[in-house]
Amino acid sequence: MADAATLSPKSSSAFQANLDRAAPLLKQLRADGIGHLINGEIVASSSGETFATSSPIDNAELAQVARGTAADIDRAAKAAKDAFPAWRDMAPAKRRKILNKIADAIEARADDIAVLECIDTGQAHRFMAKAAIRAAENFRFFADKCAEARDGLNTPSDEHWNVSTRVPIGPVGVITPWNTPFMLSTWKIAPALAAGCTVVHKPAEWSPVTADMLTRICKDAGLPHGVLNTVHGFGEEAGKALTEHPAIKAIAFVGETATGAAIMAQGAPTLKRVHFELGGKNPVIVFDDADLDRALDAVVFMIYSLNGERCTSSSRLLVQQSIADKFIEKLAARVRALKVGHPLDPATEVGPLIHQRHLDKVCSYFDIARKDGATVAVGGARYEGPGGGHYVQPTLVTGARSDMRVAQDEVFGPFLTVIPFKDEAEAIAVANDIRYGLTGYVWTGDMGRGLRVADALEAGMIWLNSENVRHLPTPFGGMKQSGIGRDGGDYSFEFYMETKHVSLARGTHKIQKLGAV
Ligand code: NAD
Repeated sequence: MADAATLSPKSSSAFQANLDRAAPLLKQLRADGIGHLINGEIVASSSGETFATSSPIDNAELAQVARGTAADIDRAAKAAKDAFPAWRDMAPAKRRKILNKIADAIEARADDIAVLECIDTGQAHRFMAKAAIRAAENFRFFADKCAEARDGLNTPSDEHWNVSTRVPIGPVGVITPWNTPFMLSTWKIAPALAAGCTVVHKPAEWSPVTADMLTRICKDAGLPHGVLNTVHGFGEEAGKALTEHPAIKAIAFVGETATGAAIMAQGAPTLKRVHFELGGKNPVIVFDDADLDRALDAVVFMIYSLNGERCTSSSRLLVQQSIADKFIEKLAARVRALKVGHPLDPATEVGPLIHQRHLDKVCSYFDIARKDGATVAVGGARYEGPGGGHYVQPTLVTGARSDMRVAQDEVFGPFLTVIPFKDEAEAIAVANDIRYGLTGYVWTGDMGRGLRVADALEAGMIWLNSENVRHLPTPFGGMKQSGIGRDGGDYSFEFYMETKHVSLARGTHKIQKLGAV
């Protein structure tokens, strides 16, 4: 087992400071291991089984993690069920206070969370440094909405006052993936708690470390026992049991499209409500009248940041033929210059990929691209980084057609496929020629065209002349095979709550008299 300080040679004082911050945290993590949080206690699996989690930087084991089974999910679901009435009925102001306390604690530990997330997932520190702050914002944003969560509509008719209100649906399951796991988990858990639901969280098995931190933060912040339960383990075991448990009323899931389909089937016998944030193969369309310098910055950022392990990454570049050669030349130079390296080095732009299996999947697309007749213009091989980590060369594939696998499959790595187009109609046709529909990015100097294309794109979120800039009240989610439902602001409450209609008679309407003599 390597210490953080042995993971890679130091190259700057900020890098060394990150390594120094990580060293005692890793020591503690190894000593404590990672347990489940069930009914306010950190516990081992009922089977006593554990699995190892290791760092993509050098495959060093980071901790032994409790391997949750159906029995552990049952304990957690029962705890969530028992805790539900008191949490549901707690005054919103009190709930708000607890959620804000969690936000404070996340902020206080933001630097620790950042370095551990980098070591557990391989994400570069420059992107993770602010991820915990965003997670705290998620808690604060939804804390402020605790009181309004129950608001409904007044729709009066001639003889009745008709009002609607919302009530929390009950204990819910939250299943999260390994990409930016801390921020994503809070994005799901914070609105559920604000709505008055209790939660059983099943974090991804490849990135359990910061889920464990969130668990401990919530426990220490005074979240009542059973309100948040975390069960670690594998998808087909703990995850499946969660989706099948009768006490769990809804499943909020973030992950692959195929897993979403499996969860829908698993949850069918107990009629689970589902919310899915799934895969994407998102187009960025660059027209010849765009601000090409800004477009280039955004194109590079939206696929090579976060290792390209990002659902909203713009992994298909559609560029107008008239500017394609010049744009691709500049793009290729930028891709060649990307800094691959140790994730705790602030200079690093692309870190190691999460897991050997994922690295193999990403690398398999180099041959697929060549076989299909596309050109691997930059990259196209593993990157031999220090420590034997899961590094890959940032890759640019040009000359692709829409029917090629590199234009259709979600590679989920630092891998960009370029497809040239002739005009607006062809750009729209190619952009929509895909089973996914999460996001789309459009670059043009003609706002009329921008609006026409935004209207025509089959995607849940469109950014015009911008990279993905998230605003918490706005709807987040995908069309087609990229998801079901929306998150963000009030949209989150639509999922975690039931709408209840109450009708009050004015006492004036005529009631039919049946059986009257
Ligand atoms: P994954 O689907 O393999 O796993 C996600 C979670 O589901 C994990 O916790 C896993 O243990 C669990 N799981 C697996 N099989 C299960 C089953 N049968 N029943 C219940 N749970 C099960 O996804 P991943 O590889 O961890 O994450 C990457 C994927 O997530 C990509 O496709 C990416 O696009 C997607 N993603 C989407 C969004 C979005 O907002 N649309 C955000 C982030 C990630």
